[in-house]
Amino acid sequence: MNSDAIATATLLLDEKRARANIARMAVKARENKLIYRPHLKTPQSAAVASWYKDEGITKATVSSLKMAEYYASAGWTDITIAVPANIRLVPEYNALASRITLQLTVDSVEAVKALGKGLCYQTGVYIKIDAGYHRTGVAVTDLPVIETIIDHIQDCPHLQFQGFLTHAGHSYNCRGKVEIQALHRAQLDSLKPLRNFGGIISIGDTPTCSVAAHFDGVDEVRPGNLIYYDLKMVQIGACEFQDIAVCLAAPVISIKRGSHAIIHAGAVHFSKDFMLDDDGGKSFGQVVRLTSDGWTGPVPGVHVRSLCQEHGFVFGPDNWLKNVQAGEIIGVLPVHSCLTADCMGSVTTLEGRTLSMMPR
Ligand code: PLP
Repeated sequence: MNSDAIATATLLLDEKRARANIARMAVKARENKLIYRPHLKTPQSAAVASWYKDEGITKATVSSLKMAEYYASAGWTDITIAVPANIRLVPEYNALASRITLQLTVDSVEAVKALGKGLCYQTGVYIKIDAGYHRTGVAVTDLPVIETIIDHIQDCPHLQFQGFLTHAGHSYNCRGKVEIQALHRAQLDSLKPLRNFGGIISIGDTPTCSVAAHFDGVDEVRPGNLIYYDLKMVQIGACEFQDIAVCLAAPVISIKRGSHAIIHAGAVHFSKDFMLDDDGGKSFGQVVRLTSDGWTGPVPGVHVRSLCQEHGFVFGPDNWLKNVQAGEIIGVLPVHSCLTADCMGSVTTLEGRTLSMMPR
């Protein structure tokens, strides 16, 4: 990779690492007889998503109707929209269900009734289950409500009860593999009673899918972030630095000697997601050295500590700062790769190919 070719903030993608991340999960899914239905909101790119197809993966998860339409147009024919169905979009769901195998998720009888009334093409329906994250979904222990929703789904000729879908987003609070494993086991235990209703059990979050070796009682996994990983995933214990497949390269546009450097990459490039590093300092990204074939491990103590809309303020030890030069291209590992990719709108491979993403 030639950083001389970079003039403005560019999201670099190490294709080998991304493909290795996919392949590792694909092997684990095969060993555990799981359907691997990756969440494609992370790449938001038909070109990158085609790397899943190279691993024999043909089923997708998305987070919006628009994303489902985008991937359907790119040839994905089996898609789950994994946010509770928006009943204002019934005509659009219907149009999509007429051309692909579509699954929606619901967590109320009202949603089932509206879908049942409006859809005239076969559509799979998962019940969204809250197994501890408390974002959406029926509480995993609320079996009477779950049974009532299933009854209503089964009363609608065009709806097919698919099973249960849950997302353990609270795994992002874990620190270390032991905590992730414990959360995973607790989640699997809590989901067990649902098996009596039939249908499949679908889980999906990068920490548990990365760390767990066994998935008893689970039929499907949907990790998304795992294709790129990021600093947050290193901190959680879901991956190592060398698994991170994306790096934001940005030019130094100003230097406050003795204090910090300023890059032309701010909130509109990284997003405003941050993490607290081991010393409690805010980090929006950690600096790496760009090399001819990618980037090094993180430079100790050098972080983007604050952001304006367009500027990133990079602080590090004196021996780092004194060598920084205006115009230099600095590499930064993002805290949350899904949001950084979303902000950037395209990725450039280390070989210099720019891959487009879903149009805004
Ligand atoms: N499934 C659902 C419903 C999600 O909301 C998400 C992420 O937000 C995922 C799967 C993928 O999780 P991760 O980003 O941890 O890979």
